[in-house]
Amino acid sequence: MPHIDLQPFCGDHGLIVRDYLSRPIHIGPWTIATNGHIAIRIPRLPDAADTLTAPASIATIFDSHSTEDLGELPLFTPPAGSCDCADCGGTGEDIEDDYGRITTSTCERCAGTGKIPLLHVTSVEISGAILAARYLEIIRALPFPKLAYGHWPGAYEPGRDQHPVHFIFDGGIGQLMPMRYAHDTHFNLVRPGVAA
Ligand SMILES: [Zn+2]
Repeated sequence: MPHIDLQPFCGDHGLIVRDYLSRPIHIGPWTIATNGHIAIRIPRLPDAADTLTAPASIATIFDSHSTEDLGELPLFTPPAGSCDCADCGGTGEDIEDDYGRITTSTCERCAGTGKIPLLHVTSVEISGAILAARYLEIIRALPFPKLAYGHWPGAYEPGRDQHPVHFIFDGGIGQLMPMRYAHDTHFNLVRPGVAA
C-alpha cells in the first residue's frame, strides 16, 4: 500500500472543536483522518492503538460509499499568492471583547502573520456542487484519485441535505462535504472529457 500523508486531512490550528479530529483515528479495521469537512479511510495502520475518544459512529460515515461512474479530477491551476487573513482582517491579532474586557492574542488561523494562502479562500464549482479548492488539491495529491461522478451532490438548496462528494484513491476512500456558498475567488470546472 502506498504511504498516505494523513495530516492534511486532520483538523489544524485551532479551527476544530473536537480534539480527536486533530490526529488520525484508529477504529476497528480502519484508520480514519478527518477535520469534519473532508474524511479519508485507509486500512488500519500497524501498531496503532484504538482512539478511545472518538465515537464509534465515525466509521459509519463510509457505510454507503459510492464508486459510481469514477472519473478523473477536473483540471485546475490553483491561484498562487496570499491575501489578508479572513479571521483577523490582516492584523495578525485576535481581539476579543468580553463585555468590555479586551484581550488580544495571536490569530490562530494565520499564526500572527495576517496573511493566508489565497487558495484557502478559493472555491470551485463542478456540476453545481461548490467545493473548497484547497480540499480538491489535497485529494489531487493522493495516489490515483478519482471522483464518483455518479453520486454527485449537486447544487445547494436550502432545506435539502447535501451529501458529500465521494472519492477513491490507491489505498483508500474518502468524502468531501460541499460548501453552501462560493468564496469571492471562484472557478467553474468541468469533468475531463465532458464538454462545457
Ligand atoms: Zn489572522
